[in-house]
Amino acid sequence: MRKLTGKLVVATHNQGKLEEIARLMQPYGIETVSAGQLGYDEPEETEDTFVGNARIKAHYAAQKSGLPALADDSGIEVDALGGAPGVYTADWAETPDGRDFVMAMTRVWNELEKINAPAPRTARFCSTLVLAWPDGHDEVFAGKIEGQVVWPMRGEEGHGYDPIFQPDGYDITFGEMDRWEKNKISHRARAFDLLVKGCFPNEK
Ligand code: IMP
Repeated sequence: MRKLTGKLVVATHNQGKLEEIARLMQPYGIETVSAGQLGYDEPEETEDTFVGNARIKAHYAAQKSGLPALADDSGIEVDALGGAPGVYTADWAETPDGRDFVMAMTRVWNELEKINAPAPRTARFCSTLVLAWPDGHDEVFAGKIEGQVVWPMRGEEGHGYDPIFQPDGYDITFGEMDRWEKNKISHRARAFDLLVKGCFPNEK
């Protein structure tokens, strides 16, 4: 597996993800800059898989910058909704005035109520990380965390759908969880662990 050296572009415009990835990177002393800070636009996510969309974002930033670039594509899969919103997790929050996650979380709950889905309403967060190099090479890492969708929304921490996701083994939502704690167990942290083991020199 190819090793990462030098500076890295984090190919996201999502502030919540950027902060999480920056925190995950902190112990390794890797210098990062985000695609947003570099003024790059966001490529269209035209694939119907997490890995497909992560590849689009990572390769786009690597080509533009001439540096290795890391992208995350992620979302929540709700079993009773056939895995929706899945790769469309961000789309469910889209409004003409920006993303509205209260609206998106309400839609998830309303759709579960409409079909009378039995409890627990199992779900998982998925994260696929793609590390791409300017020569077109890439490495892929995927992580998941299982849990359930709960209502009402709880907690002010985190971002996105965190207030309705309660991970297995906890009685609090990601929205109520300390960010360091979430970063120990989250889907993104699990994918990140694999990335560190695979691509960071001297880490096993
Ligand atoms: P992407 O930018 O296309 O990958 O969109 C991912 C969507 O999933 C965004 O709407 C995020 O808010 C949501 N999402 C991904 N990871 C998390 C998480 O850790 N907590 C809450 N929402 C998340």
